[in-house]
Amino acid sequence: MSKYTPMIEQYLSIKEQAKDAFLFFRLGDFYEMFFDDAILASKELEITLTGREGGVAEKIPMCGVPYHSAENYIQRLIEKGYKVAICEQMEEPSATKGMVRRDIVRVVTPGTVMEGKVLGDKSNNYMVCVTETDGMLALAACDLSTGELYVTSVPDSKEWLLDEINIYEPSEMLGDAHLLDFVTSRMSPVGRRVVYTAWDKSKDDLVRDQFGEATWARLTEERRRCVSRLISYLNETQKRSLGQLTQISVYEPNHFMILDPFTRRNLELVETVRERSKKGSLLWLLDRTETSMGARLLRRWIDKPLLSSSLIEERLEAVDKLYHQFIFREDVRTQLKEIYDLERLVGRIAFGSANARDLIALKLSLAQIPSLRELCAESPSNTLRRIAQTLDSCTDLCTLIEEAVADEPPISVRDGGLIKEGYHQRLDELREASVNGKRWIAELEAKERVATGIRSLKIGYNKVFGYYIEVTKSNLASLPEGRYERKQTLANAERYITPELKEKESLILEAEDKMVDLEYTLFSELRSKLNAEIPRLQKLAEQVAEIDVYQSLATVSAERGFVKPELTTGYDFVVEQGRHPVVEAVMKDGGFIANNTVLEEADAHILLITGPNMAGKSTYMRQVALIAIMAQIGCFVPAARAKVPMLDRIFTRIGAADDLIGGQSTFMVEMADIQVMTEKATPRSLIIIDELGRGTSTSEGMAIAQAVIEFVHDTIGCKALVSTHFHELAHLEQGLSSLRNYSMAVQESGDKVNFLRKLIPGAASSSYGIYCARLAGLPNNIIERANGLLYGFEQAAAQVTAGTETAGGAKEGTDVRSVSGTEEISPMTAKHADQALPANIETVSQAQSGSQQATL
Ligand code: ADP
Repeated sequence: MSKYTPMIEQYLSIKEQAKDAFLFFRLGDFYEMFFDDAILASKELEITLTGREGGVAEKIPMCGVPYHSAENYIQRLIEKGYKVAICEQMEEPSATKGMVRRDIVRVVTPGTVMEGKVLGDKSNNYMVCVTETDGMLALAACDLSTGELYVTSVPDSKEWLLDEINIYEPSEMLGDAHLLDFVTSRMSPVGRRVVYTAWDKSKDDLVRDQFGEATWARLTEERRRCVSRLISYLNETQKRSLGQLTQISVYEPNHFMILDPFTRRNLELVETVRERSKKGSLLWLLDRTETSMGARLLRRWIDKPLLSSSLIEERLEAVDKLYHQFIFREDVRTQLKEIYDLERLVGRIAFGSANARDLIALKLSLAQIPSLRELCAESPSNTLRRIAQTLDSCTDLCTLIEEAVADEPPISVRDGGLIKEGYHQRLDELREASVNGKRWIAELEAKERVATGIRSLKIGYNKVFGYYIEVTKSNLASLPEGRYERKQTLANAERYITPELKEKESLILEAEDKMVDLEYTLFSELRSKLNAEIPRLQKLAEQVAEIDVYQSLATVSAERGFVKPELTTGYDFVVEQGRHPVVEAVMKDGGFIANNTVLEEADAHILLITGPNMAGKSTYMRQVALIAIMAQIGCFVPAARAKVPMLDRIFTRIGAADDLIGGQSTFMVEMADIQVMTEKATPRSLIIIDELGRGTSTSEGMAIAQAVIEFVHDTIGCKALVSTHFHELAHLEQGLSSLRNYSMAVQESGDKVNFLRKLIPGAASSSYGIYCARLAGLPNNIIERANGLLYGFEQAAAQVTAGTETAGGAKEGTDVRSVSGTEEISPMTAKHADQALPANIETVSQAQSGSQQATL
């Protein structure tokens, strides 16, 4: 039978409490890991694996990190998606006989980190808890670093759960095991690593204890349970009070526009599809915030466009005033620039990890608030004036810190130097004593020099011997006998002490010890005082963030020439000279071609858009969606004029190469998305389908595309933009009264195709596939053969549809192709395009200046 040493036994019993975490076991100046933890950690952290005798034959694998640099190692493990349990010595080893008591003081997890790289300044770090109670699904999302906590629920709908989780992008999830299983089976494998913990512990009173009776009463049963689960997990891992969690933001999912994960990705709302970077996303374009909390709020707004016209109007009103008043806007920006991340500062105060520099940052931030408040109070904006009315400048807290904390304190809170003179009498006395003592020593030096006649005699200090008198060897003879006690011999000097020097020294050191202790106590008291004011500071942070987002939206809107949208509760969506805000912004030559959009209940609200690759179809369709989203978050929009109805959902189905999820084929994913769309879309939704039916055979693809379009038209009745390379579908226009054919104009000249990027009525004449193949230099015999085959296919298709409809659906401005040879391929020419343009749209020749050429 193997028998471990008592220490290893202790390790093993503590490890039992933290099976899913690395256990950092404090041994003196190190945190050690043992057994499997050690083997894995040595790999993950690239540290040496050693062994330790543990009472059994084989050495126990061990590795360790110094405690003073542990933070860095912990961060690295967290970033890799692990949890770390920190086990400390709970008593002084010198004061105990036998084993030192040890305990886990905190489990750091990806969702509960309070500092470091894992927390992006401009992004939240959410932990999401999902639970099911009596057929209701609840979700609670908490960012411990900022103190935000949201909760919501719906009747059983797992798809909704995915949409909602996608918005929070949690680094950690917990809750019902079956829900976590579902989530992991459906989450896209790309993106950051999420740590999942099945967690069913909770206590009813937790919510009441943390948030009070009133909040508790406001929550429905399933929401209470969900929050309670989350809090129980936080209690168990953090093992301290959660002072930053002061309120719960409860919301109803149907108060916001619903955007599924696919749509959010495709519209590149917060990150781009390819690089998954913020740069190039709508968030990137709109983010001109000056504070971190503003940046995070902006993201939340983009995540959740509003459905209430009064709330949107309130936002637009502030943006409008800031937009038109350049100086006012710049003044607001200047004030905001000086404000630090109040939410995270408050988080650290609650957590007990705020240092004196954090308090100085808080003070400097608070010092800006009165002028910011005044600016808003005197502004022409009703929204901003209303914020100013309730804005608590917290000047008392600013003064408190100003009086107590030194202007340039050290990082450490244990070494003194934190507290200002005049703040505390006893501290001043101790300081005085230490200063006097030092002065006495300086005087002693002068006196001893006179008494001994040794001019080079000096008094020094080191940690081992304290104060000493140093005399060089050449002067030793001048030193009187008896009074000096030798302490240390150096190469060319001797060091002595005297009783009176030692007496003074102990006074000085005692005063300094007391000073450091007292400073720490005073600092902790100050932190507790601020701790009690957290709700005020959090409210302030929220309001500052809101002002910041308004100025950000106004700044971008003004710089990019956006206009205030007209929000309506009606059906029609009309955009004059709309642009894609991001594509336009990244185009160097400023040559973005604006396009109109008219989707009307009484007329056409489904546009079937044809045109070759690269013609600008996807850009156009995305731009329409983005204009709606921008309007519904309260931003101005890239257009000359826009009448935007409140959309309840935007669905996009855009053929992307990398949307393989869980081994399903692109086509299956596409069909699954379409299924959700058919179930969830309402007449108030906008559907965008790019290249429907691409993943299957032509005839099947076309059949499905037509059937889906008919369903959208006849059954859903919502606004839709559909692009297709099946130009044969153009005939649908004749049967579907609300559908119109449109195409992206192109112009051919020689070997070049000129993309005019102009949306024009009528279908494109062909999809240009074979034409592109010819331009790409494929051998003539392949091109001819392809044309011959195509002709055959089309003849057959025409015969199938001939009985009921006119094949080809030729409209004014389009060509019915003759396809006997390459020379007769006739893509739409500029001439055709000109004819097709209605009077109110720029002509092709005007647009041409900004058009792009592509050599195929
Ligand atoms: P499609 O979907 O028809 O293949 P895209 O919408 O992807 O075409 O557009 C191709 C490229 O054309 C875009 O990357 C963009 O740079 C440019 N583009 C699209 N629309 C416009 C426009 N309205 N004005 C200027 N350039 C545009």
